Amino acid sequence: MIPILQLDIAGNPSAWLNYRQAITLMASERVIANLGEEEFMFRGGHNRMSGLRSQVTVSSIVLTKERVMPNRLSKEYVPPFSNRGLFARDGHMCLYCGETFSPRNLTRDHIIPKSRGGNDSWLNSATSCCTCNHDKSNRTPEEWGHLLLAVPFVPNWSEFLYLKNTRRIVAEQQKFLQDRFPKGSLLL
Ligand SMILES: [Zn+2]
Repeated sequence: MIPILQLDIAGNPSAWLNYRQAITLMASERVIANLGEEEFMFRGGHNRMSGLRSQVTVSSIVLTKERVMPNRLSKEYVPPFSNRGLFARDGHMCLYCGETFSPRNLTRDHIIPKSRGGNDSWLNSATSCCTCNHDKSNRTPEEWGHLLLAVPFVPNWSEFLYLKNTRRIVAEQQKFLQDRFPKGSLLL
């Protein structure tokens, strides 16, 4: 089951829903429209009177009555930072040796080490394999003699949603989010 992309009342992407959440929104009449062409049909409970089973159809993108969160749309918005998001941003590639790894073999490297005033942020963090992180130790990439293979960036809200779910996304959801990526997005 692919996640459903929820839009707020202004048509901005707001979240991924699992099918139970999507059905709950449908049942409570919080869905204004199904905007996706790809549709999923769910079977609900039996109707006591008729004995028939109810059916609910949800499309891959739903416009809902959720209120707009203006801060998510601002250019200064910083999405929650986590290793999962960081590794997804960097394509699960160590930004020092260029090899890709599974998440459990990756680490969060502070480009300017924390002990030297570097902060814990999207911009000061790079996905790194254990070996590179260990070798780099308490040095900057320049001191260590390795340049970063990609430029660290702060994803905007649409990029962040995209990164949360790159594997089970359908084409129309991907396009919807990509149309809202910033100009020159490194994820395109
Ligand atoms: Zn490495």
